[in-house]
Amino acid sequence: MTKYIFVSGGVISGVGKGVATASIGRILKEYGFSVTAIKIDPYINCDAGTLRPTEHGEVWVTEDGGEIDQDLGNYERFLETNILKDNAITTGQVYRELIEQERRGDFLGETVSFIPHVPDEIKRRIKKASEGFDICLIEIGGTIGDYENIPFLFASRSLEAELGRENVCHIMVTYMPVPSHIDEMKTKPTQLAIKLLRENGIQPDFILCRGKHALDEPRKKKIERYANIHSDHVISMPDVIGDKTANTIYVIPLDLEKENFGEKVLTRLNLRRRKQVDWSQWSKMVRRISSPSKEINIALVGKYLDIGNFQLTDSYLSVAAALQHAGAKNDVRIKIHWVNSKDIENWKVDFKKFDGILVPGGFGNSGVEGKILAIEHARKTNTPFLGLCYGLQLAVVEFARNVCDLNANSTEINPEIEHKVIDILPDQVNVNNKGGTMRLGAYPAILMPNSRVSKIYGSEKVSERHRHRYEVNPKYHNILKEKGLIISGKSPDGKLAEFIELPNHKFFIATQAHPEFKSYPVKPAPLFDEFVKACMEKPESPQKNNPQQPQPTQNQSREIRQGTQESSHPEELKKWE
Ligand code: GLN
Repeated sequence: MTKYIFVSGGVISGVGKGVATASIGRILKEYGFSVTAIKIDPYINCDAGTLRPTEHGEVWVTEDGGEIDQDLGNYERFLETNILKDNAITTGQVYRELIEQERRGDFLGETVSFIPHVPDEIKRRIKKASEGFDICLIEIGGTIGDYENIPFLFASRSLEAELGRENVCHIMVTYMPVPSHIDEMKTKPTQLAIKLLRENGIQPDFILCRGKHALDEPRKKKIERYANIHSDHVISMPDVIGDKTANTIYVIPLDLEKENFGEKVLTRLNLRRRKQVDWSQWSKMVRRISSPSKEINIALVGKYLDIGNFQLTDSYLSVAAALQHAGAKNDVRIKIHWVNSKDIENWKVDFKKFDGILVPGGFGNSGVEGKILAIEHARKTNTPFLGLCYGLQLAVVEFARNVCDLNANSTEINPEIEHKVIDILPDQVNVNNKGGTMRLGAYPAILMPNSRVSKIYGSEKVSERHRHRYEVNPKYHNILKEKGLIISGKSPDGKLAEFIELPNHKFFIATQAHPEFKSYPVKPAPLFDEFVKACMEKPESPQKNNPQQPQPTQNQSREIRQGTQESSHPEELKKWE
């Protein structure tokens, strides 16, 4: 029977429930249990697909094509397991399901009410997503006291009543402020949050106390005295980002284990560990992220970066995470420079300081010309380049314009353009609804034998996740190839360009997919791993004269970095075609 752990948040939003949930999951996995995790988002949207990245962070794409909250990305990264779209539950989904059932007449004349129908539907969804797992964590979005999460708290209590207390456990993650005028960590907001949770009928079993510093014994005792939670069950979860000794969220499972947290949770659920824990690989990864021996500079050219005075790097969370994983493997710190593509258009960016350029996914036309300029720079100066989804499409536009000499663009940007090198996918032409209708989730690609990407993946068939409506227009495949662009991966029917690469370049690879969604802390995504390796390479001999590439202008030639890779495979290309 599955055991359930509910994780709620107190005091403030953004307290770190997602990472706490993922960390607990990782600990329990290390103890030999099969673990899954569910995120409950109390908003009316049916999923995160139509949400603005600057407001909610990136949209995480699941293997089965779900567009969901970025927290589920952390679950996958920590648990190294597939989390499917059923693991994201929203208020919108619950009500939509009930209304559809009512319209079909499934309730046979019964009044459909908040209680019991809403909590019952929530419980049904939780049970479905957790089927077959030993332990299921459920993170309840929002903060205790929010009106929106009341139905979910109710459902958690009802599940506890149904399954028995030894099968359901409640953890609350709270915040311990240190007001600057008294410079002392205060427990009162946590006491009040515990009170609020109890008013909802829930007795928390553990309190995880997030704060600037570790929680000391006197404060643990204070929570014990005032809130009746044993101090052994009050666990410290200090900030790690900015902390010189760690500086990575991946240290949190190790931190929690210092307080024997996993064992305490198992005892509460009447379970016993199933295997000896081995944190050696995980600890090595943490150590390498915290104190690597080298450093490289990578430009991440985005556009969802600026909102007021804040830099919302969450918009590209998985890309940054995948770079970090590759950095850990290669023992190098990846210094990400968040380059706003609009600044490139205004010539405010000096590319010379970057060891590599990454152009991630995106939508719409703002900032696009800046991204194209960044790609042109990477191509002409032999700077390693990795393009993801829109990054591939814009690399094709750049190549079509500057190498094939075509007046080219994507029809997403300019539907009237003369050469529509990027065009809408045929099955997207008549799509009207925006939510859940892109080409979504895992699709296979066949890689060209001996191409750089097939060597990187070590296979000629790969599967990566997708989220797009546009594609490289098949009518232009031949023109692009004639001018030297290698389409090194295609959909199995041969129609869709999935990977492109340039020969005679240190690393110039782009994919229509999002490999960042399949990168794990101790197992980085292969493309990111190789991209980072290429960025680490020291400049070598001068670039070979490649007639297929444009000769740089005088100005640009000054910037040309040295070094080149052996030209890979024009012969193979012919055979493959
Ligand atoms: N806007 C492009 C498309 O829809 C790229 C999408 C993306 O980068 N995820 O095809």
